Amino acid sequence: MSSNLTKILTEIPANVKLVVVTKTRSIDEILIVYNSGVLDFGENKVQELLSKQPLLPPDVNWHLIGHLQTNKVKYIAPFVHLIHSVDSLKLLLEINNQAKKNNRIIDCLLQVYIAKEETKFGLDNAEIISLLSSESISNLQNVRITGLMGMATFTDNTNQIRLEFRKLKEIFKELKATFFSGKEYFTQISMGMSGDYKIAIEEGSTIVRIGTAIFGERKR
Ligand SMILES: *Cc1c(COP(=O)(O)O)cnc(C)c1O
Repeated sequence: MSSNLTKILTEIPANVKLVVVTKTRSIDEILIVYNSGVLDFGENKVQELLSKQPLLPPDVNWHLIGHLQTNKVKYIAPFVHLIHSVDSLKLLLEINNQAKKNNRIIDCLLQVYIAKEETKFGLDNAEIISLLSSESISNLQNVRITGLMGMATFTDNTNQIRLEFRKLKEIFKELKATFFSGKEYFTQISMGMSGDYKIAIEEGSTIVRIGTAIFGERKR
């Protein structure tokens, strides 16, 4: 097992799930991690996910963590384990459609915009409320919203990062008490990457998505 992975596994509490982010990594690199017992892998692009999925063992849990275009949902719907990046009602409706065709219920996280940067995808507070209040959402039988995902601003300012993660946790608690009251499955907060996962865990993350800190810098 890579010493980076060993170290990270000791830093992550038992109630926090590690998703190993495999974008740009070779099958051989991924297999080393798989053989150490990790089953959860994340890709940010559908194409790359599709090229790797058949080459890895069938018990891998594949997480889609990057922006998802509606027209690509059909390719991942047969097997995807968790979609972290739902950022519109239109996308959620299409995931439901494709999940139904595959006779599955697909777990999804709503991606919440918490960073100061304009580059990040995600929903703001008003958009989340409008999505969850919409009439069409109550009829969705084949998707389950199990929590939220967010990315902090890319900055050295750890206090800012902490406050952004704290904001996501606050939004989670508000939604849990309102739209998801009594919904036992609404439990997940996917936050924290290589540079900020320790802060994220302190602020209540339940899923961290880590690539670089395990494999080293990406070359492309
Ligand atoms: C690449 C990526 C990560 C992991 O980033 P690292 O800095 O390599 O740990 C996490 N989440 C998303 C959405 C990503 O695209």
